[in-house]
Amino acid sequence: MKNQGEKELQEKLRSYAKRYKAMKDQMHEIGFICPGSLVQRRMTCGNPKCPCSHDPEKRHGPYYQLSWKEKGKSVSRFLSPEEATLFREWVENRRKLTAIIDEMYDISQQVRDCMLPVKVAQKRQPVRTKHTPKAGKPPQNAR
Ligand SMILES: [Zn+2]
Repeated sequence: MKNQGEKELQEKLRSYAKRYKAMKDQMHEIGFICPGSLVQRRMTCGNPKCPCSHDPEKRHGPYYQLSWKEKGKSVSRFLSPEEATLFREWVENRRKLTAIIDEMYDISQQVRDCMLPVKVAQKRQPVRTKHTPKAGKPPQNAR
């Protein structure tokens, strides 16, 4: 059946496929990724006679600190300026990748909704029998 609605749907799906491919192409470009965050900080040395102890402008640094979670624990490392430049890029790559994946989810959901349109006319609630498992719980006799 090639009616108007069908044509529009095909058109829509083509444009989603195009956007989806653009995301995949972007993903292709991404280098190494690093979870966590990179912060730059200036620190006091603990010597009460050092100017850093009373003047925030005289604090030492900057120091670069990379932090991430490992098995639920927070881990952090101090980095040299060269390492900071490298890992800043990795952290940025991870942010880009996450944004791309979010967009891919978004497009996929829209495609799903095109293919499985919401049935607005449907008024009847599904009949729940005593054998119907509750949402989120697998049936007891699953295997
Ligand atoms: Zn100091």
